[in-house]
Amino acid sequence: MIRGSRDSMQTKALHRARILGVPIAEAAMMHELSVAESILNIAVTEAQKHDAPAIECIKLRLGAFTGVVRDALEFAFEVARHGTLAESAVLEIEIVPLRTKCLNCGCTDTPAGDFCFLCERCGQPVEILTGREMEVEFVDLAEALELTKRSTEWNGFR
Ligand SMILES: [Zn+2]
Repeated sequence: MIRGSRDSMQTKALHRARILGVPIAEAAMMHELSVAESILNIAVTEAQKHDAPAIECIKLRLGAFTGVVRDALEFAFEVARHGTLAESAVLEIEIVPLRTKCLNCGCTDTPAGDFCFLCERCGQPVEILTGREMEVEFVDLAEALELTKRSTEWNGFR
């Protein structure tokens, strides 16, 4: 069922892209590419703040209800990181599941698939507790050469 509706959505987008003369892959990538660029901006700013020569890992918390496709984001990141301090960085993605709470009866749910924003128990509207996150949790930075040297000396001293 879900698969079916997703397929029909893809067909529609493909048709539109043709009319506009935009290559399909590019049109589909647009959103994820701008997300990847924002992630890189955050990470690079942080690296520059600490004078780090490179970024080793970027940890991202990504809500299941953001509309961002993980595979597409990973691909966009691979493309966007070239020539940045994150050129060889690993993008670690934690998917935060969608969790809702009913405003009327207070029951919580973790809906999967098609989701209508109404409580399964009483039919009243629900609020979203988690699932909309899109945040860089942390950035692992490579140490500057000087720092590495110092820590080696410290280990030797021990
Ligand atoms: Zn309810």
